[in-house]
Formats: sequence, C-alpha cells, structure tokens
Amino acid sequence: MQVEKALIVGGGIGGLTAGIALRAKGIGVEIIERDPEWTVYGVGIIQQMNVIRAMDALGVLDDYLSYAQGFDKTTLFVGPQGHKEAEFEAPRLAGPQYPSNAGILRRDLQKVLADKVTAVGATVRLGVTVEEMEDDGDGVDVTFSDGTTGRYDIVVGADGVFSATRRMILPDAPTPRYTGQWVWRYNLPRPDTLDGIHIFAGPCNAGLVPMNEELIYMFVLSEEPEDYRLPREGAAATMRERAARMAPPQIKAWLDHITADDEVVARPLEVILLEGDWHKGRVVLLGDAVHAATPHLAQGAGMAIEDGLVLADEIGKGDTPQDVFAAYRKRRLPRVSHVAKTSILIGEAQMGKVPPVDVGKLNGQTMAMMAEPI
Ligand SMILES: Cc1cc2nc3c(=O)[nH]c(=O)nc-3n(C[C@H](O)[C@H](O)[C@H](O)COP(=O)(O)OP(=O)(O)OC[C@H]3O[C@@H](n4cnc5c(N)ncnc54)[C@H](O)[C@@H]3O)c2cc1C
Repeated sequence: MQVEKALIVGGGIGGLTAGIALRAKGIGVEIIERDPEWTVYGVGIIQQMNVIRAMDALGVLDDYLSYAQGFDKTTLFVGPQGHKEAEFEAPRLAGPQYPSNAGILRRDLQKVLADKVTAVGATVRLGVTVEEMEDDGDGVDVTFSDGTTGRYDIVVGADGVFSATRRMILPDAPTPRYTGQWVWRYNLPRPDTLDGIHIFAGPCNAGLVPMNEELIYMFVLSEEPEDYRLPREGAAATMRERAARMAPPQIKAWLDHITADDEVVARPLEVILLEGDWHKGRVVLLGDAVHAATPHLAQGAGMAIEDGLVLADEIGKGDTPQDVFAAYRKRRLPRVSHVAKTSILIGEAQMGKVPPVDVGKLNGQTMAMMAEPI
C-alpha cells in the first residue's frame, strides 16, 4: 500500500513510537495531542526485555538508557511476610552490552521519544483534536479542533483507553470497564540494595522499581468500590493506609516517606480488549485504544510500542488498507490478548473473584512469550 502521509492522533507512548517507526519507512507523519501542556505524570514505568529490543529497533536505545536504570533481575516475594519466592533473570534481547529490562521516569521516556520523533521530521501539534473525519476510500479528510484541515493516506488512533478515534470508527466496540482495583504510586529515594524490580504478590500487590540512580517508585494496589473518588487533600495518608493494610515489611518500611499529597499518583484500573476489527477503511487503532491491560504484568506500554513497529512493517507488505490492517491485527492479537487477559486474571485472583493463581508461573510464561520475535 502506498502511504505518503499519516496522521497520528495522540502523542503518548504509542503515538510517539509509531511516529518514529513510520518515519523510518519514509512516511510523512503529523501527530496531534489533545493536551496543550503535553503533561506526563511524575512516576515511572517498568520496561521489560521486549521494550529494550523495541527501543533498539526505533534507534533510541542509547539515549533512552542514559536516563533509565537498566537491570536483569525481577524478584517475586509472596505472603504477608514478603517471603522470597522466585527470581527471574530475563534474556538480554538487544545484545549482551544492554540490560534486559529498565525502569524510567515517564517524563524522561516522553522526552527521549519526543526528541527522536521531531529529529526524524515528524510534526507535533499540541492542544489539537480531530473534529471530523471523512474517509472516501482513497484518503481521509480531517477537520481539526483548531479549524485547520488536512488529507492523509492513513489515520492512526493512538489516543488511549478512552479513544475518541475508536468511538468515531467503531461505535459498537466494547467500552472500557473498571476492574475493581486502584493503583497508588509514589517516588522514593533509591536504596543501594535494590538491584532490580521487587514485586510483592499475595494479599497485597505492590512493587519497588528503580528508575534512575536517585529514584525508585513504589506501587500498591487496593480494591475500591466503583464510585470511589480520592480527595487530593489527605491523599498521602490514604495511600499509607492502603499500603499498610496487608503490605509485607519491605513495603511498610517506606510508609513514613509518603508525605506529600501532590506526589501521590493514584487511579482506577480500566481495561478494554477489542477482539474484532482494529480498523475501518483507512483509520486504524493501536495501543490502549484497542488493548488496555492492568499493570500486573507491566506490559501495556510494551504492547503499544510493538504495535507501531508491526504496523509500520506491514504497511510495506500489503496492497490495500484492508490487507495491511488485518495482517497487523493478526500479528498483534495473540500477544496483546495474552497480556490483557493474564493481567486481568491476576487482579481478579487478588480480589478473590476467581481462585488463586500462580503469579510466578504466569510471569514466566509471559516472559517466554515476550522474548519471541514480534
Ligand atoms: C497504573 C498503571 C501502571 C502502568 N505501568 C506500566 C508499566 O510499568 N509498564 C508498561 O509497559 N505499561 C504500564 N502501563 C500501561 C501503559 O501506561 C499504557 O499501556 C500506555 O501508556 C499506552 O500508551 P498509549 O499511547 O496507547 O496511550 P496513552 O499513554 O494513554 O496516550 C494517549 C495519548 O493520546 C492523547 N489523547 C487522548 N485523546 C485524544 C484526542 N481525542 N486527540 C488527541 N490526543 C488525544 C492523550 O493525552 C495521551 O497523550 C501502566 C498503566 C497503568 C494504568
């Protein structure tokens, strides 16, 4: 299929990485981002071996690792006393000179990707959304919220779990659903002893993740009713209370550090998985717009990043939008369904909605799958 110009809706992790991947194929890229400030919240993200490999494929790995904390090991602790259950050493998929996994501040990740996408010639417009789209079979005419217009060979909806692009092209698609859990995150000073991610499973689901030489972040999950709202005032005390409920000593040891209401990043977990089409005509979706998982396997962003690489790869192969987008979805569906369904299953087991699961085994299976080529 001939694609000279693509519009990407959404300047998040999926949109930026898709932009880099499409530029590498010589395609002109315009990105629009709804948020005029392009705000990214201040905690970090876990990026596993398949993401390190993808960062290499995108040509940003060295820059990325200059901000990140690389590591090879993930340690799993279980039970109220935080008993060490298993240690996984992931393969170094980008080569022996690079770590298997990394933790990074989300702001730093965005900077690396935004610098790269503009360096390779994409344009990014902030504070802009799509008002209308008209696909006439040969191209898509778009009217933007700032009154400007444009015509594109394809439009890529990378606008997250509440995607407006999805609503426009697939109005009958499933809508996001709340799983019953919230996640609470907070940055902490880095102790010398944290040599990789520490995950705590069992009655409390929590973790400690190194992000750079100075900082780690803690996450803790809690079960909350559907209508739960968190007042900003008192957020730190609420997070301490949630973490103290069932946390093992390794998490409780940090609770006195959680003092600033403004630094608590807390949100409900909302999920979606589109098992039907991911496109209509010349408009296609990627990332959380089609498969938002819970963070139990820390693979949501990884799946969004891989989507962009596969989409760019398939554009060179098929003759029509239908061929290309169907092939793209077919390649992606097994991996993203595994991540979405397994993450949700772990959360449901934690809440007692389904029988207990072997988190170590599920993590092992996921790692083996993620190490496979995309
Ligand atoms: C608590 C939590 C922890 C997580 N931890 C991890 C982790 O450790 N590792 C991991 O791999 N993944 C993790 N994830 C998942 C990861 O954050 C997402 O999968 C990833 O951000 C998806 O990227 P995306 O670009 O598809 O969507 P988003 O990151 O949501 O980006 C969408 C972008 O589109 C913009 N936008 C929205 N609507 C419009 C519109 N109408 N017009 C223009 N722009 C628009 C938004 O402002 C945003 O910038 C976590 C998720 C949660 C909720």
